[in-house]
Amino acid sequence: MNYIILGPQGSGKGTQAEFLAKKYSLDHFDAGRALRQIAMLDTSLGRKVHEIIIVKKELVPSLILEEVLRVRLADLPREQGIVFDGVPRNVEQAEYFVEIMREFGRKIDRVFFIEISEEDSVKRISKRFSCEKCKEPVILENENQNFICPKCGGKLKQRADDTKEGVEKRLKIYAEQTLPVIEFFEKMNLVSKINGEQTEEKVFEEIMKAL
Ligand SMILES: [Zn+2]
Repeated sequence: MNYIILGPQGSGKGTQAEFLAKKYSLDHFDAGRALRQIAMLDTSLGRKVHEIIIVKKELVPSLILEEVLRVRLADLPREQGIVFDGVPRNVEQAEYFVEIMREFGRKIDRVFFIEISEEDSVKRISKRFSCEKCKEPVILENENQNFICPKCGGKLKQRADDTKEGVEKRLKIYAEQTLPVIEFFEKMNLVSKINGEQTEEKVFEEIMKAL
């Protein structure tokens, strides 16, 4: 089984992808994380990706994404299902994506589109931190928590591209480029729309019902 989870930042798509991966023993392909890891490498690809996603805060060209995807798919046996999280992000990438999947003998079984309002998206992102030490993601409900990891006592910090400017820019790109991807997959009859403005458990229940 191969699933795609799309939604604006802060929609909780990463959490839902993890739930799905756990439940069905799927590989979790987090495109954002894969690219951020590459951006930290001191290689020509690493520097290029860093410039695009951290400095310019733009989407990577399809060719780069294609390379990242190919490496991952080549690594996995075909029976191993995958949940794709945050990819494809524009129609061009979606076309490539369908083609690469076909090439690797895979089909897309369902696309989950988690919907939340723009206001909610900004609110949720501004609370999102992670621990420098144990890498645990932490949601800070109020800022009096001293930016200390509740698990290991490490220091909490925001993702480099989670500044207000970064969030707004990503939301704009999302509206202009990623929403058309939903229409693209709707034409293939693959989309299930999920209400993201409820608890993680309820969102997952809705996903399970749509399977
Ligand atoms: Zn920690």
